[in-house]
Amino acid sequence: MPISPPKPCTHPGCGVLVRDGSGRCAKHPRVAWLKQPNAAKRVTGRRLQTMRDRLFSDHPLCVECERLGRVTLATQRDHITPLAEGGTDDDSNVQGLCRPCHEAKTQRESARGRHRVG
Ligand SMILES: [Zn+2]
Ligand SMILES: [Zn+2]
Repeated sequence: MPISPPKPCTHPGCGVLVRDGSGRCAKHPRVAWLKQPNAAKRVTGRRLQTMRDRLFSDHPLCVECERLGRVTLATQRDHITPLAEGGTDDDSNVQGLCRPCHEAKTQRESARGRHRVG
């Protein structure tokens, strides 16, 4: 078996010696990064504030909690379908969630993103 001399990882600023000839260490594998789908533009600033105010005055309670028969004040403006998955930033795609429900949903979404193929 020929042994190739170790070479430093080609990732900028890394320099970990690689012995398998790939030129990349375990932390920086040579992968074609998945391109982010064209996410809808996020509304910010004054317009977002208006949308938030309207959302929370129409739906003051966390919808996830309501479903479970709990009454919790919504504090987070959540995208029902995340922008990264093609959701839009308008009233039909937003709901009010409390912080714990919002964090749980965000975690589910990022887990889904990690497992998504293609
Ligand atoms: Zn590296
Ligand atoms: Zn909740």
